[in-house]
Amino acid sequence: MARKMLIDGELGKPSEDDKNYDFDLFVIGAGSGGVRASRFSANYGAKVGICELPFHPISSETIGGVGGTCVIRGCVPKKILVYGASYGGELEDARKFGWELSEKVDFNWKKLLQKKTDEINRLNGIYKRLLSNAGVKLFEGEGRLAGPNEVEVTQLDGTKLSYSAKHILIATGSRAQRLNIPGEELAITSDKALSLEELPKRAVVVGGGYIAVEFASIWRGMGSTVDLVFRKELPLRGFDDEMRAVVARNLEGRGINLHPRTNLSKLMKTEHGIMAVTDHGEELMADVVLFATGRAPNSKRLNLEAAGVELDNTGAIKVDEYSRTNMPSVWAVGDVTNRMNLTPVALMEGTCFANTVFKGQPSKPDYNNVPYAVFSIPPLSVVGLSEEQALEQANGDILIFTSTFNPMKNTISGRQEKTVMKLVVDAETDKVLGASMCGPDAPEIMQGIAVALKCGATKAQFDSTVGLHPTAAEEFVTMRSLTRRVAGQGKPKTNL
Ligand code: FAD
Repeated sequence: MARKMLIDGELGKPSEDDKNYDFDLFVIGAGSGGVRASRFSANYGAKVGICELPFHPISSETIGGVGGTCVIRGCVPKKILVYGASYGGELEDARKFGWELSEKVDFNWKKLLQKKTDEINRLNGIYKRLLSNAGVKLFEGEGRLAGPNEVEVTQLDGTKLSYSAKHILIATGSRAQRLNIPGEELAITSDKALSLEELPKRAVVVGGGYIAVEFASIWRGMGSTVDLVFRKELPLRGFDDEMRAVVARNLEGRGINLHPRTNLSKLMKTEHGIMAVTDHGEELMADVVLFATGRAPNSKRLNLEAAGVELDNTGAIKVDEYSRTNMPSVWAVGDVTNRMNLTPVALMEGTCFANTVFKGQPSKPDYNNVPYAVFSIPPLSVVGLSEEQALEQANGDILIFTSTFNPMKNTISGRQEKTVMKLVVDAETDKVLGASMCGPDAPEIMQGIAVALKCGATKAQFDSTVGLHPTAAEEFVTMRSLTRRVAGQGKPKTNL
């Protein structure tokens, strides 16, 4: 295939200079964004090299693995554990559907863990094959910038390789942060939580974000006692307040002990386990304490500042709308830029990079209507604007439609857990600005709703869509009565 290079926004033939580089593109980090960008660039004819740290499920500054966080210690292993944990509730419900199950149902954590490890090993192999099939040259080792067009890779045995590249893409992701409190070394982060030898009987989860909520649900679903400690009044800051309250209610309904407006003061090792002391003086006993208290961009060891690449005050690499840094030959995508830290977004940014630089199609990632899911049990999923965001951005009034109902399955199982749906509509244009759902299958349903929002669907179009019966999803097209109209100048609710 002919080599195409886009130089400063123009598609042109490789210049004489280009031929002196070892690679057209060298990528540091073979996670979601890096693999996507390198494969697509190679498919457009670029000569591509990529480096990645050696594989292990638990990451460190010198440990990683092809596939990155999503595959090895994020979305995939987490979802496998969510599936595993969901059977707990399903088995309870099954009895009401006529299943005769003996009183004691055992759960074998080690068996599930082995299956999870087998799966991430398989995916690691698939990602390596994806790279080699695309003709991308993979190097195992730690990459750093040695100049605007120079990358240095330190291999496992300490030997250093040095390569020049016309373009360098940094896609090194992010890593979990630890709280700076006495006894913090007794706590684990999500990497370890996905690879524990034993299922903790008692877990304290610290944090109010989606990762905290998901691990609380996983362990509770497997029968553990779980305390969820978070700073705000409700978990999941940034999501629609009304839906956050629904999630909190469901977590409590499933038996998770919520500790809102609470910080951890210290951790202590005792003969009965780890004691987690809160700033309210509570003493929570645990076998495992999980810090799910945020992630920081992996930018420290890349020699970026020395090379002149600008970072923001969180350590994220500053980029323009095309993912280009202040140095024209250096680009960055994914979590290391801390824009919207999700796998499909890192993929989108990687695709846009390849299109811009090697396909001759300057492309900006579009962050509108990106759907999100929180794989709590039951899950929450959203797309578009929350009520609070809509009010902030609105010129006129906002219409809110909500539906709270007992899913058909619960009428038989007797489970006291409502499904809640919400649509946020622009009163003037009738355009649906946002949708949320908390209930079984919410993420599966929301992907379809995201297509509708991307197409600019109006509430009238939702209403004229024929329902698919009998499903929970059909409720999205039958929400005819207005729940409330909120004045455009009405202030978004609170700082919950
Ligand atoms: P990564 O996938 O992290 O890849 C970066 C790679 O760079 C890593 O493999 C790392 O080892 C490597 N690297 C770092 N430094 C160097 C170096 N110096 N040299 C060579 N290689 C290096 N997102 C979702 O969309 N849905 C979910 O359900 C979801 N669940 C998650 C659950 C958890 C527990 C976590 C932690 C994350 C989850 N995410 C989820 C977020 C998602 O995993 C990330 O947004 C995504 O992986 C970011 O991709 P990336 O390419 O930026 O970084």
